[in-house]
Amino acid sequence: MYYIIKRNLLGVLKENLLRIVGLSIIFLLGLATCSCTYGTDVQAQVDGFGVVYSGHFDNTIGWSNWISDNHVLSYSNVFPTAIKISLEKQPEGMSGTVQYQINSSGSGWLEWAEAGAETGFPGSGAPIEALKVKLNGELEAKYDIYTRVYQSGTWTDWVKNGETAGTDGVGTHIDAVRVAIMPKDGGVPEEIQNNAAPQNQSGRNIDPNRPMVALTYDDGPNAPVTNRILNSLEAVGGRATFFVVGSNVHGRNATIMKRAFDMGCEIGNHTYRHENLTKLSAEAIKSTISSTDQKVIEVTGTSPSLVRPPYGAKNASVLNTIGKPAILWSIDTLDWKTKNASSTINAVLNHVKDGDVILMHDIYGPTADASETIIPELVKRGYQLVTVTELASYRGGLHTGKSYGAFRK
Ligand code: ZN
Repeated sequence: MYYIIKRNLLGVLKENLLRIVGLSIIFLLGLATCSCTYGTDVQAQVDGFGVVYSGHFDNTIGWSNWISDNHVLSYSNVFPTAIKISLEKQPEGMSGTVQYQINSSGSGWLEWAEAGAETGFPGSGAPIEALKVKLNGELEAKYDIYTRVYQSGTWTDWVKNGETAGTDGVGTHIDAVRVAIMPKDGGVPEEIQNNAAPQNQSGRNIDPNRPMVALTYDDGPNAPVTNRILNSLEAVGGRATFFVVGSNVHGRNATIMKRAFDMGCEIGNHTYRHENLTKLSAEAIKSTISSTDQKVIEVTGTSPSLVRPPYGAKNASVLNTIGKPAILWSIDTLDWKTKNASSTINAVLNHVKDGDVILMHDIYGPTADASETIIPELVKRGYQLVTVTELASYRGGLHTGKSYGAFRK
């Protein structure tokens, strides 16, 4: 068991390395510029001890990335069929681990699992109806562990220390999960900025028999341009996928990216600094992907599940290292080159067909101009404007290690 914990901690540590470095810098800056005294309270806040968790989403991404303490584990339009929960930065010398039990539809309560082990029936389609999470050992005496789930269109109240989150036995599945660790008797976890209901579901009626396309925008977010594109999408109830560059996610750009997420648009990963992945080591590939994931998680609470490799540059080792499906395109508008709205409009409207993935860039004004024509015109022609994941879910699904250009019937 020690081995399992250690292995999970190492994985989590790697994913969070950038964040940890960032926090340390902020902390050191604070020491340098602030004359206030740092007591044990501050120490407690920065020690970073928390829970991390991952769910299995059938026919889409498989196992999700690890979601950090108090953030939302969910994935658009699908529910988890299995779960695993682990701890990060457990206080040294303190015994105990995290234990969890799920109620799986049709099977009832399964055996308790612990410390990162999988529980549930991945790939079976059998949803989770309810969940219990608790700590043991010395951890149990020092900390409370809270759980809440999104079910039947609403978040349940927080429950703690092994109480049941969700309603079992009535066949309703859990869409999303939040778990958080608090000091003993410290009250419920703090509300997070990105506590939006998971994007899926109500009001989203995709007709699998009608044509659909995925508009994709790379290299943003870029607040003014991205926002104009969102206005066009909102006017027709359409969605698009934004493959963001991690280093662009800050300030107003981040706010606009959150708007996209809240509209049900998909946020994909386009690396941290737009690197050509075929020229990077495996370590560097993992780092640019995970640091971008972290930037998106900070804003939306949810990790991107797709990567678009910059320049479309990929090879077998890139595909195997990025840990998510790679999404290319079937229509290249060359908007970055022409910076001309009419050529972008023609590139789309003269060639579009069912199942296309259309490449544009939300950093150029002319692309926003073109989108103001393209978006309503596609709807007029009967196309449903869907995210890449939505499109894929009707056309054979997505698999890690593979790349996709279009999703035909
Ligand atoms: Zn790009």
